[in-house]
Amino acid sequence: MSGAGAGGRDVGHLPSPLRGGWPERSGGSGGGRDSVASPPTTPTPFPSPKGGGESGAATPGPDTLKQRALAAVSEVCDPEIPVLTIADLGVLRGVEAVDGRVEVTITPTYSGCPAMNMMALEIELALARAGISDATIRTVLHPAWTTDWMSEEGRRKLRDYGIAPPSPASGRRALFGREVVACPRCGSEDTERLAEFGSTSCKALWRCRSCREPFDYFKCH
Ligand SMILES: [Zn+2]
Repeated sequence: MSGAGAGGRDVGHLPSPLRGGWPERSGGSGGGRDSVASPPTTPTPFPSPKGGGESGAATPGPDTLKQRALAAVSEVCDPEIPVLTIADLGVLRGVEAVDGRVEVTITPTYSGCPAMNMMALEIELALARAGISDATIRTVLHPAWTTDWMSEEGRRKLRDYGIAPPSPASGRRALFGREVVACPRCGSEDTERLAEFGSTSCKALWRCRSCREPFDYFKCH
């Protein structure tokens, strides 16, 4: 099947009567045993990858492409919290590779959060660095992202970074109508909220009464 490049000119000139009543200069005769896409006068510099159809060595399979894309995208960090990747956040919902195209599905943490546009750009850049240019970033809003999607690893990183991780949605907030946020530095629950919005709209500014340090709290959604 391979090696048709050298004799491409002769194959292209196959007399049509041999092939039955086919039109004389059928350039794109799909499905034929010897389908030579190039015109007869133009010599092919190298065998076309499309010619064989069963040689899977040259082109990477969908799994390889998917794995490469997943590895690249998983490294993308949240623009506002550089220690958290979008995989940690649970924002990354899926990576698929279909027909050589990569489709990345994300769910924003917060509708209208300006970080999301930057995140989509970061994903495209990460894919481009991995040599993947044909990619679509799909944003899915339903079901809505909740802080429960954040991985344990993500919560730990957040705490180490000095931001109180979101408490579980079914926590004390629902029971007592007030939030209990533990200080990410000393662990004390004797804390108070100073402002609804912290350094970004996704975070609130809190202060610990024990160690007197202010800290950001990643708000529950
Ligand atoms: Zn404290």
